[in-house]
Amino acid sequence: MQTKFIFVTGGVMSGLGKGVVTSSIAKLLQLSNQRVSCVKIDPYLNYDAGTMNPVAHGEVYVTDDGGECDMDIGNYERFLNQNLKKTHNITTAQIYSSVIEAERRGEYLGACVQIIPHITDEIKKRIHKIAEDEKLDFLVVECGGTVGDIESLPFLEALRQMRLEEGPQSVLFVHVTLAPSLDVVGEQKTKPTQHSVQELRRIGIQPDFMAVRCTEPLLESTKKKISMFTNVTASDVFSCHDVPSIFSVPQILYEQGIVDKIFTKFAKVGMINSAANWDKWNGIVQSMQHKDGEIKIAMVGKYVTLADSYVSVNHALKHAGAKIGKSVSIDWIDSEGINGNVDTLSKYNGILVPGGFGSRGVEGIIKTANYAREKNIPYLGICFGFQLAAVAFGRYVLNYSDANSTELDPNTTHPVVDLLPEQKTLSNLGGTLRLGAHNITIKPNTIASKTYNADHVSRRHRHRYEINTKYLHEFEKNGLVFSAESDNSKRMEMLEIPSHKFYFGVQFHPEFNSRPGFPEESFEAFIRASAS
Ligand code: GLN
Repeated sequence: MQTKFIFVTGGVMSGLGKGVVTSSIAKLLQLSNQRVSCVKIDPYLNYDAGTMNPVAHGEVYVTDDGGECDMDIGNYERFLNQNLKKTHNITTAQIYSSVIEAERRGEYLGACVQIIPHITDEIKKRIHKIAEDEKLDFLVVECGGTVGDIESLPFLEALRQMRLEEGPQSVLFVHVTLAPSLDVVGEQKTKPTQHSVQELRRIGIQPDFMAVRCTEPLLESTKKKISMFTNVTASDVFSCHDVPSIFSVPQILYEQGIVDKIFTKFAKVGMINSAANWDKWNGIVQSMQHKDGEIKIAMVGKYVTLADSYVSVNHALKHAGAKIGKSVSIDWIDSEGINGNVDTLSKYNGILVPGGFGSRGVEGIIKTANYAREKNIPYLGICFGFQLAAVAFGRYVLNYSDANSTELDPNTTHPVVDLLPEQKTLSNLGGTLRLGAHNITIKPNTIASKTYNADHVSRRHRHRYEINTKYLHEFEKNGLVFSAESDNSKRMEMLEIPSHKFYFGVQFHPEFNSRPGFPEESFEAFIRASAS
């Protein structure tokens, strides 16, 4: 069996939704019973997304195997309802590090080490390895950045070579661009698209398909014009117009015949009737749109200026809302501003504190966690939100006025949250947190065991600090229960206040396990409590 490759490039500008086009194409192939996966190439020089600021770059998406990945990996996982390995996020730094390490080991036998062929070979090797290891029918590879960027050149070159080596019957290029309309009359402009395809062709890539972002469906006349200037058949120019939900994009591409065209291009016969798959998927997409009442959630944190910083949390809340037929509206509230006026939170049905690092805005979060407890408002604390709920409880119930996490106050006399012991000797910040999926044991007869309906669960982590088990007894004596643990009770994983309407915290990141149609359990329980 030979894997077919679909390479997705982008032109004109970033933020066009290349990730959604990539995921949608993969989804359509999966619905056609093909074994499919996605890869994201990130041409930046960071080794991974772990050290990047979420306000500038969006959330760091954690995979089961502990990869700190670009948030597009999250899109792929949600669309495909499939877990991906960290090898599916390739960066310039990873490629160059392996080549340089191989050079130091003397593996190039005296050759002059160059971008072509050594860097491009390493890129191709990684793509092939994924295809072979996972025995894929299709691998959809998204090349980040915009055509014309210096950083992405070696990657595009590697993809060009793959087309030459594998042949046109095995490789297909999709180029995503924008056709902006400048006025209400809405003439769709094609010049930016023309230029970006010229740029692509200059480096030797002729796209097979065009996926054109536009507000209204692409007019026939626009398609013809794009076709003429880009040398792509008009029927292979696809309209990616605005739709209410990203999960409707597979449908609009399907209606334009993209699946048939992909199968025809690859001379693949025997497309499998996928009506049952489609029914299931459509059911999920529709449930995401059907709304009967609204639940208002306050999300209090520090990276609130960019919606993408918590994109998986936002999705998870919507998945949970859809499950009970309600829409969820989310207000992002900067914890720095909340300090003196936590009462503004009274209008919300639920309060969520997501993950975070560092001390800015932290006092506002601690007050928020305490307010939710005192006012009996459903609370879900994730990672930082879990740790700071314990800090709030330490301060306001146990009366340790300086209770804190040593991340925020290394000199506190009551370090209810402290550094993981194995972290104490580390000096590197990249890739050294406690990462990825770990097995968690849940105590019977707790809110946690009811929520998960299981005694074990595996969830993804990304933290450096944890609950200081020295204080467990005191917490529990005063009504806060740690209802799940890991590593033989060494680490606390969930907390709850049984007397509260819903006060729940998790050391892990449940948002990465939530999928359309299958909300993660703690989100579902939180939204149900907020709705009642
Ligand atoms: N800053 C905390 C820690 O390092 C929480 C991390 C997070 O919320 N992802 O443990």
